[in-house]
Amino acid sequence: MVELEKTLLRKVGEAIHRFKMIREGDRVAVALSGGKDSLTLLEALLLLEKRAPIDFTVCAFTVEQGKFLRPIEPMGEYLKQRGISWTYYRDSPSFRLLEEEPDHGCDLCSRYRRRAVYEIARGLGANVIAFGHTADDFCESLLRNAMFTGKLSALPAVTHSRDKNFRLIRPLVFVTEEITRAYAASLGAPVVPCGCSQRTGTVRRGLRDIFAEMEKEYPNLKENMLSAMGNVDTSRLLDTRYLDFDSPSIPPAFRPGLAEPFPIVNEL
Ligand code: SF4
Repeated sequence: MVELEKTLLRKVGEAIHRFKMIREGDRVAVALSGGKDSLTLLEALLLLEKRAPIDFTVCAFTVEQGKFLRPIEPMGEYLKQRGISWTYYRDSPSFRLLEEEPDHGCDLCSRYRRRAVYEIARGLGANVIAFGHTADDFCESLLRNAMFTGKLSALPAVTHSRDKNFRLIRPLVFVTEEITRAYAASLGAPVVPCGCSQRTGTVRRGLRDIFAEMEKEYPNLKENMLSAMGNVDTSRLLDTRYLDFDSPSIPPAFRPGLAEPFPIVNEL
């Protein structure tokens, strides 16, 4: 447990430092989904709140959208016993949506959630909202976006709400679900699953299976992918916004308008 906690705090600390996620005087609201990841995030931030050289405060909230498979009360009890400030918000518009369109897609659901999240964070006096997306989520979204949206992108480790009122952070970017699973289990905290997590999409399941299979042989796969996301060689990609066509080092055959659209290069 001690080693696990050390690893967790080191990785969360590294993310906070590298991406300047938390600053002096911040009030951080952790979006608790009921799952192992956001619970681990909350615990890590509470520990760092006591140990970090800067002053910041942490609170937590949960948006109920009618998809929890178990009652949320035990989680509320657990948090209360630990003296954690937690706000539970039953989002009526989401319940109405569920009645009117039971099979609505994620787009609509997350739009409703986003609106509720900002409203709650405003009420809590928070200027930072922390989400529990893990290293696994970053790796999967990188592959999913490349394969299905034609874009080379993952998730933002740090970004802002459109009106710039909130900094949105994902401090578990370097923390794998192997760690959150073990840490949440070691806390003995009641995890409340969401109905959607049980019917994970086929693409997501497929990617998870691929990772699980390959990691048997290459255990550092996700670490390498995370390093790659922070070490982009734009000259070896195909986005013309980042290519220097006039550089003498690029052979004329590769310049736009002269070259084949996708010249075959033998070098790897
Ligand atoms: S997975 Fe379920 S809870 Fe999550 S955004 Fe999609 S519909 Fe909503």
